[in-house]
Amino acid sequence: MTGKKPRVLIVGGGIGGLTLALALHARGLPCRVYEAAPEFQPLGVGINMLPHAIRELTALGLQPALEALGVEAREFAYFNRHGQAIFAEPCGRFAGYEYPHFSIHRADLHKVLADAVANRLGPDAVRLGHRCIGVEQDTSGVKISFEDAEPATGAIAVGADGFHSTIRRQLHPSEGVPHFGGINMWRGVTRRKPFLTGASVTRVGTVARGKMVIYPIRQFDDGTQLVNWVTEQPSDDHKPNDWATPGKIEDFIAPFADWRFDWLDIPRLIAEAEFILEYPMVDRDPVDRWTFGRITLLGDAAHPMYPRGGNGGAHAILDAEALARLLDGMTDPLAALRAYEDERLPVTGEIVLTNRDQPPDHIIEAVDALTGGEPFDRIEDVIDPAELAAISDRYKDIARYSLESVGR
Ligand SMILES: Cc1cc2nc3c(=O)[nH]c(=O)nc-3n(C[C@H](O)[C@H](O)[C@H](O)COP(=O)(O)OP(=O)(O)OC[C@H]3O[C@@H](n4cnc5c(N)ncnc54)[C@H](O)[C@@H]3O)c2cc1C
Repeated sequence: MTGKKPRVLIVGGGIGGLTLALALHARGLPCRVYEAAPEFQPLGVGINMLPHAIRELTALGLQPALEALGVEAREFAYFNRHGQAIFAEPCGRFAGYEYPHFSIHRADLHKVLADAVANRLGPDAVRLGHRCIGVEQDTSGVKISFEDAEPATGAIAVGADGFHSTIRRQLHPSEGVPHFGGINMWRGVTRRKPFLTGASVTRVGTVARGKMVIYPIRQFDDGTQLVNWVTEQPSDDHKPNDWATPGKIEDFIAPFADWRFDWLDIPRLIAEAEFILEYPMVDRDPVDRWTFGRITLLGDAAHPMYPRGGNGGAHAILDAEALARLLDGMTDPLAALRAYEDERLPVTGEIVLTNRDQPPDHIIEAVDALTGGEPFDRIEDVIDPAELAAISDRYKDIARYSLESVGR
């Protein structure tokens, strides 16, 4: 194998798999992506890409395309369920980072990646309609089998096949069902005029008493925006975790009936949604291995996490950068896969666990506990704002997007 560039087979053409293809190609490493879907569909809703992810996408030359499609976020803003401002801080370039924070439709982000792969690696780089059913390896290479297509062979196999990863299931056969956090989410998008700064990533309320996360993801020429919103509510059972499951307003509207704030009318935002999707709060306990010889995992297949804090997509992108860098920098590809696991597994495992009970939204939970969910006169009389900033800073450290770790 030494001297010859290893051919990498990537299973899954989502955010992580396509970024890996671009990062390998940028280093002259051959690869091919095998995607189950017969065509890429513009599915999903909003996703936040914070500066740690944008640093890597910028290195791949994608910042202008993302800037044209997404909204550059200016601030994180936290409110209680009465619409009172608790805490706000600038984000991305407005906080002094060299790299922006984009809020973007997942379909737009995916299209930017898919177009770049097609343009740079050629139309054959992604094989659609290839659903992986298993992978084998021996001392000379890997063989991937598909449901309705001929097998593919190469030097390395990367399972970037998302939350329901076939390859993870093969590597960890005794792993049980996903961990359900007792919370269901409803997500939607609504076209409307801008609110607050027109680029605020806004969190309102608590899971127990009603919670919304709201941010714009597309800007239109007529001055309106596509606004993404998601609510989390306690639930005893969960729907299938499929990003296309439709949701019903009557299942979640109750806590928001009187949430008409002077900065946003939330019942109206919900009522005017273009569509609503339901998704459970699920993840998996971190595993102790991703790499088994010539096979490894990446993104949601490696570390499925609650979609909080803007890190599911970001850490798939960071995985891709690390794996491409190590495969390029080390002569033994198997050693590179082990080094990749050593670098990325502990970091992402800590985020999975932190997202369960200490996400940035904990700022609002802390104030809610002190006020009993009632309105306050002055936030400074409830809690020192420095304590709220410390909650946010702790999360940034764990998720690796502090100003120090990303760079100015
Ligand atoms: C359709 C869709 C919509 C989403 N919408 C949102 C959203 O609105 N907001 C949000 O925060 N996150 C969303 N996500 C999840 C988000 O993309 C991921 O959490 C994150 O970006 C990590 O990326 P990933 O590449 O690891 O996984 P994903 O982006 O989920 O990509 C995994 C890919 O693997 C493919 N795949 C699965 N099984 C196989 C197989 N056996 N063989 C071959 N290919 C396979 C899938 O079709 C998919 O393209 C969505 C994911 C999908 C697939």
